[in-house]
Amino acid sequence: MDIRSAAEQGLASCHLCGKVSPVALGHCPRCHSPLHLRKPHSLERTWAFLAASIALYFPANLMPIMAVGGVGGTSYDTIMSGVLNFWKKGDHLVAVIIFAASILIPILKMLALAWLCLAASGKARTSPKNLTRLYHITELVGRWSMIDVFVVAILVALVQVGAITTVLSGPAIVSFAAVVILTMFAAMSFDPRLLWDRHVGAEIPDSP
Ligand SMILES: [Zn+2]
Repeated sequence: MDIRSAAEQGLASCHLCGKVSPVALGHCPRCHSPLHLRKPHSLERTWAFLAASIALYFPANLMPIMAVGGVGGTSYDTIMSGVLNFWKKGDHLVAVIIFAASILIPILKMLALAWLCLAASGKARTSPKNLTRLYHITELVGRWSMIDVFVVAILVALVQVGAITTVLSGPAIVSFAAVVILTMFAAMSFDPRLLWDRHVGAEIPDSP
């Protein structure tokens, strides 16, 4: 019985249609998209998207995410001061949701991706089974961290109707959306098969 992995046998699955064919062909015989054994430059791309998202995480949290204008003047809220305001007003659930979605989850996601990259390059020892689970959770959770952008959008829409106060989204909203999108790209660039290649000591030939 041949227990070598598909990659060791020079077989690649097409990223587009899923057909498994010899990587030497260069292109999928069915849909003609290029064949790769692993996502090309997976770790470099993941690190690059991760570094960009970490850099933007600071303006996303330090700059005002919204400006509320009323009779007494305009007040600016960062994500954290917004969370505190909601908490003080007694909207504990809203405060917790915003805190989790815009402060906690992005940080955990970045840490998870960094850990996955380190493990895939052999710098952290964790069982690939747990790492694969971690990758799955990271991808799943990423889709929900846009909540904050929606919360601001809904607030802006709601308060505009009131006409007495005006709410505008602040500059942090752009950085925040960029952080969410960049961490999504980072997760998409990561090839979880790299975790198993290292574990089984597979010799993967270079993709053409
Ligand atoms: Zn194909």
